[in-house]
Amino acid sequence: MADTLKALITAEEIAARIAELGRQIRADHPDDTITVIAVLKGSFIFLADLVRAIPGNVRVEFLGVASYHGGTHSSGAVQITQDLRSEIRGQVCLLVEDIVDTGLTMDYLLRMLEVRGPKVLKLVSLLDKPSNRETSVPVDYVGFTIPDEFVVGYGLDLGELYRNLPYVAVYSP
Ligand code: 5GP
Repeated sequence: MADTLKALITAEEIAARIAELGRQIRADHPDDTITVIAVLKGSFIFLADLVRAIPGNVRVEFLGVASYHGGTHSSGAVQITQDLRSEIRGQVCLLVEDIVDTGLTMDYLLRMLEVRGPKVLKLVSLLDKPSNRETSVPVDYVGFTIPDEFVVGYGLDLGELYRNLPYVAVYSP
C-alpha cells in the first residue's frame, strides 16, 4: 500500500490553509448565517474542519452525489443520492467540495441549486485541478491548486478506501 501513495499536501499545510479560508469566508459575509452544503462523501472531513474555522452562525446541509463509481476517471454523469433536507431560498449558501476536476459535477450542482433561489451561492473546494477542466466553473475559494494527478486522503477515496488518511497523497497504481 505504502509504495502507491506519495504525500502531496501535509496535514499541517491543510490546517493552516483552512484557517485562512474560514477567516476569509466570514470576512466576505460578516453578518450572515452561512448555509454550508457539503457534497458527500468526499468533503466530509474538509467540512468538519472548515465549519470550525468559520466564526459566527453556520448551518450544515448535506448533498449526496456519486460521479466516479469507484474508478479514477470521471464518468461525467452526476447522480444525486441524497438531496437537501431544507429550503435554501434567500440564504447565503456555500457549496463545499473536495475537488473540482472536469468541473462537470459542480456545473450540474450549481445549476440545480441556483433555481432554488439562494441569496448567494458560492463554491469552496479544498483542491482544484484546473488542467482537466471540461466546463468553466467559478470556484470562489480554493484550498490548493494541484497538478492533474489522482489524489486520495483527507476524505478523498479510491473505491471507498484511503478517506481516513490525514493528508492528501497522489495515488499511482
Ligand atoms: P469533476 O466532475 O469535477 O470531474 O469531479 C468531481 C468529483 O470527482 C469529485 O467530487 C471527486 O469525487 C471526484 N474526483 C475528481 N478528481 C479526483 C481525484 O483526484 N481523486 C479522487 N479521489 N476523486 C476525484
